[in-house]
Amino acid sequence: MSHIRGRSLLPLARPYNARDVIFDLHSHSDASDGALHPDALLQHAAECGVDALAITDHDTLAAYDRVDADASTVRLIPGIEFSTTWRKYGVHVVGLNVDPACAKLRRGVERQQRSRAKRARLIAKRLVSKGLPDMLDDVLEIAGGELASRPHFAQHLVSTGIVKDTRAAFRQYLGAGKPGDVRHGWAPLPEVVQWILEAGGTAVLAHPAKYRLTNTKLRALAKEFRDAGGAAIEVVCGPQSPNTTNRLAQLSRDMGIAASCGSDFHDNGNRWSRPGGFPPLPDDLQPVWTTWPTRSS
Ligand code: AMP
Ligand code: MN
Ligand code: MN
Ligand code: MN
Repeated sequence: MSHIRGRSLLPLARPYNARDVIFDLHSHSDASDGALHPDALLQHAAECGVDALAITDHDTLAAYDRVDADASTVRLIPGIEFSTTWRKYGVHVVGLNVDPACAKLRRGVERQQRSRAKRARLIAKRLVSKGLPDMLDDVLEIAGGELASRPHFAQHLVSTGIVKDTRAAFRQYLGAGKPGDVRHGWAPLPEVVQWILEAGGTAVLAHPAKYRLTNTKLRALAKEFRDAGGAAIEVVCGPQSPNTTNRLAQLSRDMGIAASCGSDFHDNGNRWSRPGGFPPLPDDLQPVWTTWPTRSS
């Protein structure tokens, strides 16, 4: 549970100076690979005690076309999680407090969606070359008109009995270095950051510890990200060890950029924490929301 003290600059259902204000700035709805409708996600976040939630679906803003933010006591912060390529690594960038209607942002999203569609065809083809049946049509149906991602392939592999569970699907077919791990086609990091900035948003380097980079490479990534206009590092992402928090907090200090936190909630399975389910940001870091102007509403 995050207990963030002090004033926040966003209007919240509870007063700014409430003792425990919980910002969860990374989560997924069924507009990407999450399980819940955006309204149900807000409801669940409210039940978990979250005050402000960013729905940050992979390469899509579709949640913002159907969410009823006024029906919730949780303040919704419009966001997105972009896939990008840095060197040979698949890196994610979260955009927060964006204007979902921004034409430049929407054009960027369309570009990513074309990449995602092409990539899904490529993943299916690669799996066929490994002796599996062609599953493209079934996977697109599972994705339900939304963008196809590897978890949708995993669902199909499990439901047809090709593997026993999602873990095995990633271990054998979809995870790093496996045939379904296709990283080509994403927009470069500076371009993705630019789309977020054009939409008035803040670019956050998502879960930097998950790329398994050496310290030297991690610093190079953070520096390039900052130089491209990135404003924060996700110092806390879901439940994580104090070592990881310390390492990322130091990166935020060294780079002189703000810190973000979020659950990366997808569903109530074992892999993800619940909304708000993560340790607090270290006290001396600048929380990313304190860089946002106060809005009156
Ligand atoms: P994609 O956007 O198609 O590259 O898929 C990436 C998504 O797959 C991540 O956002 C996670 O939701 C999910 N994922 C990645 N690795 C695993 C894993 N080992 N087990 C289950 N889900 C995973
Ligand atoms: Mn995901
Ligand atoms: Mn991610
Ligand atoms: Mn995510």
